Amino acid sequence: MKRFNCLFVVLGISISCCFSCKKEADDVTKTDSDSGYAEADYKPGAVLSGYKNYTKIYVGDLNCPIILSSPHDGTVAPANIPDRQDGVVVRDIYATDLTLRMADSIKALTGLRPHVVINELSRKKLDPNRSLAEAYLTHEDAKTAWNDYHNFIIMARTLVTKHVGKGLYLDMHGHGHDIARIEVGYLLTSAELNSTDTQINQLANKSSIFSISKESAYSFSQLINGDNSFGALLQNRGLRAIPSNRAGDRSPNSDPYFNGGYCTSAYGSSKLGGPVSAIQLETPGPNVRNTATLRQSSGGKIARAILEYMKLHYAMDLAK
Ligand SMILES: [Zn+2]
Repeated sequence: MKRFNCLFVVLGISISCCFSCKKEADDVTKTDSDSGYAEADYKPGAVLSGYKNYTKIYVGDLNCPIILSSPHDGTVAPANIPDRQDGVVVRDIYATDLTLRMADSIKALTGLRPHVVINELSRKKLDPNRSLAEAYLTHEDAKTAWNDYHNFIIMARTLVTKHVGKGLYLDMHGHGHDIARIEVGYLLTSAELNSTDTQINQLANKSSIFSISKESAYSFSQLINGDNSFGALLQNRGLRAIPSNRAGDRSPNSDPYFNGGYCTSAYGSSKLGGPVSAIQLETPGPNVRNTATLRQSSGGKIARAILEYMKLHYAMDLAK
């Protein structure tokens, strides 16, 4: 009996944590404080900085439907902000440079500059891909930077919704897993990705690409692991990716895999089906990020995959 009670307590805590985190992620429309910018300040080509330059947004063209962000490659470590004591503090090295090269490629291919949001603070001081409710922040400066970062993404999403009507947000990361492949996160767990296509087809409304799935002519499982999935479009360009159509990369099985974090949940189209979908891209170092040559090449390939994906599934032909 004691064992059952214990199990119920653990289950209760887990369930309430899931619900509280999820609820906050779904409800994000504005953070507690704003960054001091009005919508009119978000002029295409402008670079707006948050408090003490800890965060910034490169404002994209108003008719560009793409938003990029890099939360974990910051190097600024002010002594007055205490180090975080819980959670991951590893830097996603070169993720910001890769993100900016992707933005340059999108601009070159379409004439449209995407919105790009960057966190410059070290992950030891701030992890913007976590909710405030997780209490990772112990200093007002870090809290202000968190608010700035999220207000920039919220405004980018607002601009996309207002001027284009629908869009795609990609949250860029770097992982150190043994298998050097891009981990494409839609909020589906490894167990869900390991299931049958029939089962996967029931999961569209809990994924971060729910709004895309409603427009695409392909089944939801095809969007996840088919020949026209985002992972497959990366594989076609020589970038190994999971989930995708390639044998061995269809689902994670028991291998480590990141399925999407706070921002993918908060700013994608899960459940409510808002007009902006989100994908988290966890990139490997050895074949994607570790050298400038690799980043230039892979940035261009990822940009092309994004454009093909939006044409295939979102009826948006952005190429020049
Ligand atoms: Zn990361």
